Amino acid sequence: MSKALSNPKFQWPVVGHKNIAAYLQNSIVKNKVSHAYLFFGPAGIGKTAMAESFVNSLVCRQADHRDGLIPCGLCDCCLQIKNRIHPDVYWLERPTDPKTGRVKKNISIDQVRELKSKLSLRPFLDSYKAAVVTEAQHLSQEAANALLKTLEEPTAKTVLIILTDNFSWIPKTIVSRCQVLKFLPVAQSEITASLVERGAEKLAAAKLAALAYGRPGIAINYFSDPESLQAYQEKIKEFLALTQADLIQRFRFIQSEFGYAETDEIFQTLNIWLKTLRDLALIKTQNQNLVTNISAGSDLEKIANGYSTAKLTNLLRQVALAKKYLAANVSPRLTLENFVLNF
Ligand SMILES: [Zn+2]
Repeated sequence: MSKALSNPKFQWPVVGHKNIAAYLQNSIVKNKVSHAYLFFGPAGIGKTAMAESFVNSLVCRQADHRDGLIPCGLCDCCLQIKNRIHPDVYWLERPTDPKTGRVKKNISIDQVRELKSKLSLRPFLDSYKAAVVTEAQHLSQEAANALLKTLEEPTAKTVLIILTDNFSWIPKTIVSRCQVLKFLPVAQSEITASLVERGAEKLAAAKLAALAYGRPGIAINYFSDPESLQAYQEKIKEFLALTQADLIQRFRFIQSEFGYAETDEIFQTLNIWLKTLRDLALIKTQNQNLVTNISAGSDLEKIANGYSTAKLTNLLRQVALAKKYLAANVSPRLTLENFVLNF
């Protein structure tokens, strides 16, 4: 085990991903920090937390880079990082439309240009400059090209961290200039332990961890924001009811729920449907111990009894197909109507 893994002083406040943390910490210790990193893995898995710890360790005034890497959490730099106002660390995110209050679809080329000019200036605090590009799959085509230019002309002591949950969207030309780090699902036991550390009761923590599919951020969000958990559970109930509704009701539901929905929103819903169908299939095949939505157990059981395994397998296939159609820009309404015909 490397020094970084075995020494508790090196532990960053990230749930799971110890190997990635150790790799990044060693790169700081050995003064081998790369110009660019690409973190990929599903939303909520820990990419942002990892990026935050990494840049915090790079800029903290108290972290001794020869010996230990836990940021002190107390110096000006640490406080600025925490509040996302550090003058040498930039977060590039999709902006919110001031008129509608909704997050815009893309990160624009103007945002990337602004970032590029900021990165070209000397650092304010004589240490690293860093930029974190979140949800890079939402870079517009032109913005991605502009970002590539930034990668092609790296400046000393500048680190660019690109986060994405859709690796296939990132142009190969960008990928080839980055250290690529893949974030795998975190063990359920680790997520449970992290929730208990945050004050959750053990059984409740285990239930939330099961719902999170290896993504600590999702479990932590459900724990700290019970309303989001409730909304999630409502969606599952809604879906289960939909499977029992007649065709006219199903079509009405599609129109009222998704008539004006954004593609991202529809994808999220389809992912919930996919997980619910997976739970139904697990119950049907006597794998109750693997069910993720433990709280909905009895409802799931009732509905699973009404389906054959072959039917559930087909529905799972149909959701995957619906996601494919959506990604290929087929009309969402048509795609969803086509799907609910199969119940
Ligand atoms: Zn500090």
